[in-house]
Amino acid sequence: MNHRQQVLGGYRRALRRLDDENLPWMPEAPNLNQQQVQQHDEEQVPRASRSKDCFIPPRFYCVETLCAPCGVVVAWDKFPKAESPTNIMDFLQRVYPEQGRRPAYICIDKACLVLKTVANSDTYRAWLDTSRFIVDAYHYSNHRATDEVCRKWCNPAPLDGSAPNLVITERNARGQLYYKRAFNTQACEQLNAWLGGFEPILKRMTAGNFNWFLHTMLFYHTMQVIRKQNQRRRDEDEDDQDDEVI
Ligand SMILES: [Zn+2]
Repeated sequence: MNHRQQVLGGYRRALRRLDDENLPWMPEAPNLNQQQVQQHDEEQVPRASRSKDCFIPPRFYCVETLCAPCGVVVAWDKFPKAESPTNIMDFLQRVYPEQGRRPAYICIDKACLVLKTVANSDTYRAWLDTSRFIVDAYHYSNHRATDEVCRKWCNPAPLDGSAPNLVITERNARGQLYYKRAFNTQACEQLNAWLGGFEPILKRMTAGNFNWFLHTMLFYHTMQVIRKQNQRRRDEDEDDQDDEVI
């Protein structure tokens, strides 16, 4: 078992929905009739924005979050343009500049695109020595079955025994063996569902307030996750003590 820190990778968080109001000072919203929905394993072409002279939260295409499978937020950042594989790798390099501290698995909705960029780049290739890029379970079913690289290297739960750190076997009540994911690969997805509730507030904030509010929310969220983990650990310890008394 590899005990190196397991971290789920960044994840796109659009700050503006397509059906939002479009005020004059806001960047132009994409036209639903002309805009194709981007697949997670397709490259994103950055769109030009209408205003370039002041901070407008919706101009930031997305907020990227990095969190552990348990839900603890490790880092976040704003991407000024599209969520490209290069932007994702630059973010990861800022968070993990030291090779020895990099996570063994990085889970991203477009991991196959990121992997191809890493393999073809002198700047990022060293990541292949420390980390594997896998697609989270939620998005994997939408990736192309014909993409050999994706199927071979980015499968979050291969059942051929090639990734014993990702898939474990357990026994059910009848004693039969079954496969189970070792980690929650959707922690970022769940975090973003929670963050989505603050979207109407965030998109009208100034740059300073936006950064402060988001950072504070993620900080308190992480404190809450850690508090629950500690509580669960205490409950388990008490159960163990009760068992010993019996
Ligand atoms: Zn893929």
